[in-house]
Amino acid sequence: MSLLGAAAIRELAAALDLKPSKSLGQNFVIDSNICTKIVRIAGVTQDDIALEIGPGLGSLTLALLESAASVIAVEIDHRLATALPLTISRYSEHPENLTVIHADALSLEELHIQPTVLVANLPYNVSVPVLLHLLEILPSLNTGVVMVQAEVADRLAAKPGTKEYGIPSLKASWWAQVSGAGSVSRSIFWPVPGVDSKLVSFKRHETPGDDVMRKGVFQLVDAAFAQRRKMLRAALSGIFGSSAKAEAVLIAAGIDPTLRGEALLIDSFCAIYNASQSVK
Ligand code: SAM
Repeated sequence: MSLLGAAAIRELAAALDLKPSKSLGQNFVIDSNICTKIVRIAGVTQDDIALEIGPGLGSLTLALLESAASVIAVEIDHRLATALPLTISRYSEHPENLTVIHADALSLEELHIQPTVLVANLPYNVSVPVLLHLLEILPSLNTGVVMVQAEVADRLAAKPGTKEYGIPSLKASWWAQVSGAGSVSRSIFWPVPGVDSKLVSFKRHETPGDDVMRKGVFQLVDAAFAQRRKMLRAALSGIFGSSAKAEAVLIAAGIDPTLRGEALLIDSFCAIYNASQSVK
């Protein structure tokens, strides 16, 4: 088995006459060391079925195949999805361990194989919706490491009271504990992106409630951050019909109505949701 370096990536791209698409976030990793590092940080073992979103030319896929029992790779770009098995049979000793699915990750509904770990250099423009969608539809996904735009990584892993804390941090924390896992230099990509990248890791935990509750809680989170400088009693007035009603719900939940959404953990949004079910 060998990994893909800059020359191999250039050769594969030239053979496909590939012009990287900005709208699909196509920045390919040309440094195999970073792929090995990501797989190591993710702690992938032979007990794992790895899910990769956006395998592109296959740099990370090859590194994953070295450590995981099998890999499921979901790629939206038809040319890349078609070329991947050929690349993998050329460079990997275990091409049979790869399943390629040509699909938009956002429209995946279920997989007949249950992945245990997500490892991906996510397309930047859809990284948060893809991550949240996968956590929702694939309960077998226990852990993962994803590479995303640096600002997005900071938002996903942010703690309350910081300027980065908001909707991505809160919604991700419904499903999992998210932590920063290091920075990545722009120079390891082709083409070199205009933004910095970071790694984030996640570990799934038990959710605070069922799917009905999640939808209600996410609606509260969206409303609380629609205008993040507003106090909760004003920010939630639309949902509850008036700021007086919002204040009554917040007090019943044990939350100071003059706080802003950025002060609250997901548990407090759950408390507001639960109080809203009993306060008439
Ligand atoms: N994994 C490769 C690497 O690290 O070199 C490529 C990563 S590149 C940042 C993102 C990849 O995601 C591209 O191959 C792109 O075609 C693919 N992609 C973009 N949007 C997607 C979507 N909605 N579903 C699945 N794949 C997508």
